[in-house]
Amino acid sequence: MAVTGCDLTYCRMRGIMSILTAFIKERKMGLNDFMQKVVYCPHMCQHSNVRGFLRIDDNQNEEMEDEFASAPLCLNAPRSSLAEETQMKPCDFDYLKIIGKGSFGKVLLARHKETSKYYAIKVLQKKVILKKKEQKHIMAERSVLLKNMKHPFLVGLNYSFQTTDKLYFVLDYVNGGELFYHLQRDRVFLEPRARFYGAEIASALGYLHSLHIIYRDLKPENILLDSQGHIVLTDFGLCKEGLEPNGTTTTFCGTPEYLAPEVLQKQAYDHTVDWWCLGCVLYEMMYGLPPFYSRNTAEMYSNILNKTPILQPNVSNSGRELLEGLLHKNRTQRLGAQGDFMELKFHAFFSPINWDDLMAKQITPPFVPRVTGPTDLRHFDPEFTHLPVTSSVCNSDMLPVTSSMREAAGAFPGFSYGPDHAFN
Ligand code: AMP
Repeated sequence: MAVTGCDLTYCRMRGIMSILTAFIKERKMGLNDFMQKVVYCPHMCQHSNVRGFLRIDDNQNEEMEDEFASAPLCLNAPRSSLAEETQMKPCDFDYLKIIGKGSFGKVLLARHKETSKYYAIKVLQKKVILKKKEQKHIMAERSVLLKNMKHPFLVGLNYSFQTTDKLYFVLDYVNGGELFYHLQRDRVFLEPRARFYGAEIASALGYLHSLHIIYRDLKPENILLDSQGHIVLTDFGLCKEGLEPNGTTTTFCGTPEYLAPEVLQKQAYDHTVDWWCLGCVLYEMMYGLPPFYSRNTAEMYSNILNKTPILQPNVSNSGRELLEGLLHKNRTQRLGAQGDFMELKFHAFFSPINWDDLMAKQITPPFVPRVTGPTDLRHFDPEFTHLPVTSSVCNSDMLPVTSSMREAAGAFPGFSYGPDHAFN
């Protein structure tokens, strides 16, 4: 007898089921392989034993929207709940504090139970990502993070893993706070300080461009300081990968204040969009506000398209010249359009910078964030750090599986990564 919707015969199906039953009984590898088989062969769920085991009730649990409300499935199993073998699973960590929020989830300070090492773990809700159809961006973030590991000013990814309903990025923990936080406190930065940050950011962007990656979402919230005061760029969710040297792309994304004119007009754009954003961020560092800022968004858009940025003389000539070059509305005439990072590197504004020393972190940062240790969260926004960390980040309850959870479970194949894990 053929089972509808699948090539498997009834006998083969029974064979698989008995193997699975034994497998589950022994709990040797947790539920990893089992869940993947269920995900990739959904009709197996029609079998009463499988349904009983998974306690499937399609009416239950569909609307659990809370970030941590739907716990990873079966975390009392020895490994994480999908069949991607990494070294890590959610319960390997103690989750200490929430330190930030992005569009798809939260970033938490966590300590690895065995090694006591601190990490920033970005936990993303698969359901939210799927709802917004952002799988591609998230997978791009993961693959960009994997390529970034060697650059001094790009956040390092140590592991990634997934459960049925969440994705986890285990990142280097960077605790000097967001550049935005310090800029808000100081209102403006003196030129040498802006130059130092600008140079570290530019070298990171130049490195990404050399890998044919556009960062696209440069803004102060994504620029962190480490405990010594060096730049660390995070959040690669909006990066565009695989762009050839003269390639362009048209997806509309980014943050209103820093949108380049070509992005706003839905025209093709390329790596020069990052130099525009760097111009905006540097302008904000030196003048205290983004260059085209208005409380009225429509007016701000109009400013971006039509207004020449006001460059007051309290910034040096070379500083103003740099900003003018970066904020050129025509991307083909923008600084960086021809020689990319090299054009910035040799610009007069950056002449005091020794780029070899910069890359070797040999330049003393102009400001060292005061932190007493990894758990000193004074540079993080209390709006986040005061939020309770719900235990469901690492919950060992077995939840009923719903159809949307099944969809989410298989939507990110190959996401997991660990150091002794082949890059996929
Ligand atoms: P994201 O979703 O990447 O935009 O992160 C949201 C916020 O979490 C950031 O603006 C930072 O404040 C914080 N954050 C992200 N990654 C890290 C990290 N590696 N170390 C410390 N804080 C981070």
